[in-house]
Amino acid sequence: MSKNYIVGFPRIGEQRELKKVLESFWANKCPFREVNKVAGELKKRHWLQQKNAGIEYISSNDFSLYDNMLDTIVLLGAIPKRFQYLKDEELYFSMARGNRSSVAMEMTKWFNTNYHYIVPELSLNDNYILNSKKIIKEYKEAKALGIKTKINLIGPITFLALSKRIDRGDTFGLVNKILPIYEELLNEIAQLDENITVQIDEPVFVKDNEPKVLSLIKSTYDRLSTVSANLKIIVTTYFEHSNEATKILIETPIWGVGLDFLHGDENINLLDEIANSGKKLIAGVVDGRNIWKNDIEQTIKLLESISSVVSKDNIIISSSCSLLHTPFTLQYEEKLDAEIKNWLSYSYEKLDEISLVSKVFFEGLNSLNVEDKKDYEDNIAANHSRKNSSLIHNKEVQNRVQNHSKLQRDGLYEDRIKIQKELLQYKDLATTTIGSFPQTQEVRKGRREFKNNQIRYEDYEKQMKQYIDDCIVFQEDCGLEVLVHGEPERNDMVEYFGEQLQGYGFSQNGWVQSYGSRCVKPPFIYGDISRPKPMTIDWITYAQSKTKNIMKGMLTGPVTILNWSFVRDDKPRDEVSKQIAVALSDEIDDLQNAGIKIIQVDEAAFKEGYPLRKQKIKIYEEWAVRDFKISVSSAKKETQIHTHMCYSEFNDIIKTIEDMDADVISIETARSGNELLKVFKEVGYKQEVGPGIYDIHSPRIPSVEEMVNQIKLLLEVLPKEQLWINPDCGLKTRKWEEVKPSLENMVKAVEIVREELK
Ligand code: GLN
Ligand code: ZN
Repeated sequence: MSKNYIVGFPRIGEQRELKKVLESFWANKCPFREVNKVAGELKKRHWLQQKNAGIEYISSNDFSLYDNMLDTIVLLGAIPKRFQYLKDEELYFSMARGNRSSVAMEMTKWFNTNYHYIVPELSLNDNYILNSKKIIKEYKEAKALGIKTKINLIGPITFLALSKRIDRGDTFGLVNKILPIYEELLNEIAQLDENITVQIDEPVFVKDNEPKVLSLIKSTYDRLSTVSANLKIIVTTYFEHSNEATKILIETPIWGVGLDFLHGDENINLLDEIANSGKKLIAGVVDGRNIWKNDIEQTIKLLESISSVVSKDNIIISSSCSLLHTPFTLQYEEKLDAEIKNWLSYSYEKLDEISLVSKVFFEGLNSLNVEDKKDYEDNIAANHSRKNSSLIHNKEVQNRVQNHSKLQRDGLYEDRIKIQKELLQYKDLATTTIGSFPQTQEVRKGRREFKNNQIRYEDYEKQMKQYIDDCIVFQEDCGLEVLVHGEPERNDMVEYFGEQLQGYGFSQNGWVQSYGSRCVKPPFIYGDISRPKPMTIDWITYAQSKTKNIMKGMLTGPVTILNWSFVRDDKPRDEVSKQIAVALSDEIDDLQNAGIKIIQVDEAAFKEGYPLRKQKIKIYEEWAVRDFKISVSSAKKETQIHTHMCYSEFNDIIKTIEDMDADVISIETARSGNELLKVFKEVGYKQEVGPGIYDIHSPRIPSVEEMVNQIKLLLEVLPKEQLWINPDCGLKTRKWEEVKPSLENMVKAVEIVREELK
């Protein structure tokens, strides 16, 4: 028998049905009944899809109306005080989204993915009470379809590790309050049926955990795995190796461990111990984080090396993590080039792959039926075509990138900044913005119509230029000093560049859940990257021609482009990143030759690309910095390079930021006063800094007085010569009614402070 396993399945729906019904419910356009109905249909569809693909271990409780961490909060009865007066769906969605009287719970990134979870708020005073309704209900729903599911849970250690204590103190201090609830739950689950499998997700085990955390594993899993002999407990980790935890786990009576062999090579080092322990090994060998077709020959090789140590009987073939992080199905991709489409695999297709891999592995090639045999051969042919296609492999690009020897710009920062200040003549506390202005209905409509060939380029261009003109007039009237064109032509800071680079592909329906009802559709890099022609020059030079002020050129940096795309898996990430960097360096050269004096290279996702394991950070930092520097290496001394990053905590990475050698960095500090800025002073950071002085994530209009205070706080940390004044981030999600008065107040605040400093 072929044994196979899916860690978890996406839930938003192949046509984003869940998103649509949730948003309609939130807008009071349909009753909650309707949400439940759609949810029921989706669960059913997804279960049957897995069953029909021949998957043996199918999950329940991987579904969620918003987020699995939020579900776990409800499961444990860990409801924050301010929501306790609510119940059912009102309670659930209020925690996620806030309501008139209470702010939403915090949301943050799930490990190194672009999925966001709700952060539990715990305190010693909490009274946890089991609420197993959802879990029991889902199990029975699947059972009614003839599917006996494994039940997915977020493990107690991960739950605590990702929570925050509102009464100060350590979340792990609550372990003895939480564990009895888990025991009670497992007890209840054990009554449901004969022989139930429970998957307990402990992804926090893939981080560098302190001994304190590791010391909890043994006692926790000793306890949980002895609740009932009727339960088979699998502890699953993903996104990295979990060697330290696995060593401990195999000493407990759990039934199996789930390991990611694709994003955690080192998991292979523990095979001997696993084999000796006699535990089941759920081997994650089909990538749940990417959209490429599995290379079946390579996967079988990997499995064979695993089974040379662990007995075949004890191996179960699995996705590397939940398929939550990949889109649903290729079925609706009608516009993709057929050759490229043939290299891809989304969640539905991955089910078939896992099924096929397990047949080949357990039963052997010779026992495949005609259809499977054909799938096997098609897979080999597709991978062969991908290895050799001229769409992917561009010798010219490869040679150029390999031989690219200009690794940084000319001149030391100290010399450059003198030249720049002389030439650009900007004042201390120079005012600027981060790039985008409000993306109005009309702007979006114009872009959409042009994209769908409903209007001619001339009309589109005219409309966008009008918008740029308006932005410039506003900025000049307002008294801003370094201007931006407003980015009306950009739908997204990565897609815009991707569309103009060779080697980039775009899906029509490749939606992946980001949080709640929100989805993103990342573009994908399939081949060697090059820039057939300039990407931003026309817009920026047009904008510069309309003003005497300096117009900032605006680009997205290589690391951000990489981190917000699905990246080819046939080349190391740093090589792909370097290709993007070389393409960007050409763009920068073109910009400066066209008279642009300041160029901003946004690295919004620089920090989120950090590896989960400390040991791997250095390598990441090396190539990430290298590639930022390569992108700006063409900039002359006179050309001022800015960068922008969407966060404020630089304590761990400040030296790396300095190494990027940008002349000016704008960052997000508005919400932290000047506290987080202090590290810049502490390390003697030399370059100029624009700490955002107001929060653009809120519609609130900050007063002049408030911003004067904020600027003075900054001046306590850094001298005026080193400071720029700007908002926190781009303004594209805001309305003009908010942006105009806010920026006017910002400029007035700067004038007041300058006057006082005289
Ligand atoms: N230049 C971009 C903008 O202003 C930067 C956005 C970002 O970093 N998230 O929208
Ligand atoms: Zn930003």
